[in-house]
Amino acid sequence: MQMYTEKDVDTAILAGKRIAILGYGSQGRAHALNLKDSGLDVVVGLRPDGASWPKAKADGLDVKEPAEAVKEAAITAFLTPDMVQASLYETVQPNLAEGSAILFAHGFNIHYKRITPRADLDVVLIAPKGPGGLVRRQYEEGHGVPCLIAVEKDASGKALALALAYAHGIGGARAGVIATTFAEETETDLFGEQAVLCGGATELVVAGFETLVEAGYQPEVAYYECMHELKLIVDLLHEGGLKKMHQFISDTAAYGDLVSGPRIIDAHVRQNMKDVLSDIQDGTFANNWIKETENGQKEYRRMMNEDLAHPIEKVGAALRSQMDWLDN
Ligand code: NAD
Ligand code: MG
Repeated sequence: MQMYTEKDVDTAILAGKRIAILGYGSQGRAHALNLKDSGLDVVVGLRPDGASWPKAKADGLDVKEPAEAVKEAAITAFLTPDMVQASLYETVQPNLAEGSAILFAHGFNIHYKRITPRADLDVVLIAPKGPGGLVRRQYEEGHGVPCLIAVEKDASGKALALALAYAHGIGGARAGVIATTFAEETETDLFGEQAVLCGGATELVVAGFETLVEAGYQPEVAYYECMHELKLIVDLLHEGGLKKMHQFISDTAAYGDLVSGPRIIDAHVRQNMKDVLSDIQDGTFANNWIKETENGQKEYRRMMNEDLAHPIEKVGAALRSQMDWLDN
């Protein structure tokens, strides 16, 4: 494993150079503001009729249409939704400076060959391992979110140094930047969010809630047990791994964890995880998502509405309205 830290960064490589940030959502806003606060020359590329344009302006940033923003940029970062990056690349490609770099926060479009970059361009990845809000907050507090770094194409001979300086500019080098490949980042990122972080965790929560409610327990009590308290456990895991969690939970909880955890995540679930990973590796998942997008994302919206209509959402909203310290 290779990890880069601040001492490995050559900040001079970006001195006087312009960085174009395409998209101003979760990652785009965090990267643009952090890079600007790091003293770099940042321009944001957005659709003039989009909702992000006034936001970026209000944050004091220089905003242009994407094809204008990329002119003279040493690095162009694609921070729009993954599904629009291929057509956006076609739009800006003629204006990308000869020998400049294109940068991604997730390898999807390069790995699944949705974008075939021009031969003179460096192609790099800086993928923060956290949502944009955290990338911004950690930076403001003098910390950083760890990042992955990869170089798909080193046309200039300086691609790694350029990407490292960018990672430093968003605060990532403070926490450590681990070397990977576009393939490893893309496949592990998709697997993590599907099997564990988003898909796995939410299905576990909802299935636990349904099990208790169907057995006749109060939904409010089931909500506290299965959703609310998850944060305490995740914080312990984040801070000190399994060991810290076991230090802070009761002996009874620890014994129950050890005997019942493997009954829940059994061989069948592990096989399902392998199947999900295969679909990611052989491109099935990517093709389905691309097809769904070409069909107007109707099925995606239907499933999303169904998810948000679950009773746990109603119970949760009512209980959270009592917790006036929460941002909701
Ligand atoms: P997002 O959905 O939050 O942001 C979308 C932004 O793109 C908005 O500002 C929108 O106005 C703009 N946009 C949409 N279509 C556009 C177009 N055609 N032209 C110009 N701008 C357009 O996106 P995100 O979640 O920040 O994801 C950006 C990238 O970062 C993706 O590659 C994603 O995989 C990656 N990533 C995201 C996270 C995360 O926490 N959200 C974490 C790591 C990596
Ligand atoms: Mg992810």
